[in-house]
Amino acid sequence: MAMTNLLRPWPSRAPVVRPGAYVVTVYHQAFYEHAVQRGRGFAFTCDATGAVDMSALSPAGKHNYHRCTIVDARDYLLPVVETTTGKVWDAGSVECPCGAEHNLRGHTTACACGQHFNASGQMLRGPEADPTNSTFNPEFA
Ligand SMILES: [Zn+2]
Repeated sequence: MAMTNLLRPWPSRAPVVRPGAYVVTVYHQAFYEHAVQRGRGFAFTCDATGAVDMSALSPAGKHNYHRCTIVDARDYLLPVVETTTGKVWDAGSVECPCGAEHNLRGHTTACACGQHFNASGQMLRGPEADPTNSTFNPEFA
């Protein structure tokens, strides 16, 4: 990143409230395999017991789920619950000069006060760039 994006001298990182960390996520899906055309079928997000949350399904998902469980149930094998684990980076949060906790996510984000941050928590273009912003704290200018 070009240093010209940083309006404050280094280090311009906001105080860390919650450090970044990898978050382990676990996904479950119930796979209904077609009895004849093996390898084909439908998979639905479910919990560890295989229970599918119908309210979370799209209309097409509900239609397919009913096909697997009611309408064409004899064409599909009993569901197999497949579990997948993954790691997702949570960039954490910093304390904005306005006092609010700001969750870092994505490439750049902005607090409600107008302060911009990069994914590492460095303060970029600040609310002082907007002369109409009345919530700017001049302590951090
Ligand atoms: Zn703020």
